[in-house]
Amino acid sequence: MSDVSLQALRRRTFAIVSHPDAGKTTLTEKLLLFGGAIQMAGSVKGRKAARHATSDWMALEKERGISVTSSVMQFPYEGRIVNLLDTPGHADFGEDTYRVLTAVDSALMVIDVAKGVEERTIKLMEVCRLRDTPIMTFINKLDREGKSPIDLLDEVESVLKIQCAPITWPIGMGQRLKGVVHLLTGEVHLYEQGRNFTRQDSTIFPSVDDPALAERIGAAMLQELRDELELVEGASNPFDKDAYLRGEQTPVFFGSAVNNFGVQLLLDFFVEHAPSPKPRATTSREVQPTENKLSGFVFKIQANMDPQHRDRVAFMRVCSGEFKAGMKAFHPRTGKEVKLANALTFMASDREIAESAYPGDVIGIHNHGTISIGDSFTEGEVLGFTGIPNFAPELFRRARLRDPLKLKQLQKGLAQLSEEGATQFFKPLMSNDLILGAVGVLQFDVVAYRLKDEYGVEASFEQVSVATARWVYCDNAKKLEEFRDKNAQNLAVDAAGQLVYLAPTRVNLQLAQERAPEVQFRATREHA
Ligand code: GDP
Repeated sequence: MSDVSLQALRRRTFAIVSHPDAGKTTLTEKLLLFGGAIQMAGSVKGRKAARHATSDWMALEKERGISVTSSVMQFPYEGRIVNLLDTPGHADFGEDTYRVLTAVDSALMVIDVAKGVEERTIKLMEVCRLRDTPIMTFINKLDREGKSPIDLLDEVESVLKIQCAPITWPIGMGQRLKGVVHLLTGEVHLYEQGRNFTRQDSTIFPSVDDPALAERIGAAMLQELRDELELVEGASNPFDKDAYLRGEQTPVFFGSAVNNFGVQLLLDFFVEHAPSPKPRATTSREVQPTENKLSGFVFKIQANMDPQHRDRVAFMRVCSGEFKAGMKAFHPRTGKEVKLANALTFMASDREIAESAYPGDVIGIHNHGTISIGDSFTEGEVLGFTGIPNFAPELFRRARLRDPLKLKQLQKGLAQLSEEGATQFFKPLMSNDLILGAVGVLQFDVVAYRLKDEYGVEASFEQVSVATARWVYCDNAKKLEEFRDKNAQNLAVDAAGQLVYLAPTRVNLQLAQERAPEVQFRATREHA
């Protein structure tokens, strides 16, 4: 097997999805701990210190008001290389999250045991389903009282429409939490308060039949457990790896992230069963991760990551081949060779210069605005990866300048910030307005803040009568021209120069569609 194939097989690239507060950040930290990416002693003091160290580089984002963007963390575990792509934590469900999910091979869903399936979990599940992304589930906060495990599995199955296969099963909950049983190995892992539950630190019994277990948890509790296990065995689905890989079944784990309990069982199972990089569709062919030539696509752009340098970082997911530091790559959209100098990898402990990267890895490419979301890089072949859409924004505002002389900076700022994908920028055909579209209302504040901070432009955003946007397509050039003439007052171009219909009301949109049946109104636009 080639080096690229071997390296690709070792990769596990995933994202954690959850409703805010379910415990995504806490679980991320524990996973990094197992990866050795952060040092964390068993003591509370050590834990606090380590918490500081890891959050530092996330704090950088927060401080600068852009915690709505996401990050990449890489760590080795049990001979595998795990890439964890963080999805934005803010309540606005952004395109950012969607695009991160296009760059992963699987996902991990965190559910709060007391709250069950929440609104954002449902949305994220819908997104995962678009690509049949395999999902594992971690039911968190078992150290607190919550819903009964069986009810929770029912809820996941009925609300999220995915079959559950419990892999671990809790013994008690809240004050009565005694541990978990691993349903595949039969092992019982005890929960004892104040422990750091790594494999070394945990008390593990080989099975529920171990006489010492009854002594530890009591005969009554053991009997209760046996009854429950019998019930679970009869009522739940056994783990079916193919069904998991098809996105039809989710293996379920129980634990407590903050106590690091049940997390290693999850991680062990994850690295063994989660998929390595899959083939990727392009407009011309399917790209195999085992191919020796480099290819990848950009799923995220972040401006001015390093305040010292006013450049941008494009995050590229490697889909095939090997990236080597300093190599030249072909950028099909511009038809140019680009030297990928100073590319970054994202080891969780630090951002560092990439020596090499393989399928499943993410590298950061410095650029000055020449790279856009959806762009691909290859070793010469013209490839366009599909499935990285722009969504029609749902909120619109007109940018208003304090100082009219700064129009140029404003345009530049809006265009560049829109390249990151969180907002979209429209220029109406018939006016000099600059209209910004976003999926969440917070994004306007972020843009105003960053315009001032990074471009020295003071702007505010005011209401504008746009209810929704649709990208306009028509194969018949003459019909398109007619449409353009008739509807010029509602048309604009986006940052990529594509024609967009800005509808003042939904009814107006409906009428416009009815009057021009030959024109397609699309709610998404594919990049590239
Ligand atoms: P996120 O918003 O999903 O990233 O959630 P966080 O990781 O920030 O956690 C939200 C809150 O839940 C924090 O106060 C955590 O300390 C707490 N938390 C996380 N995991 C657990 C757990 O296992 N048990 C309990 N009791 N609290 C937890």
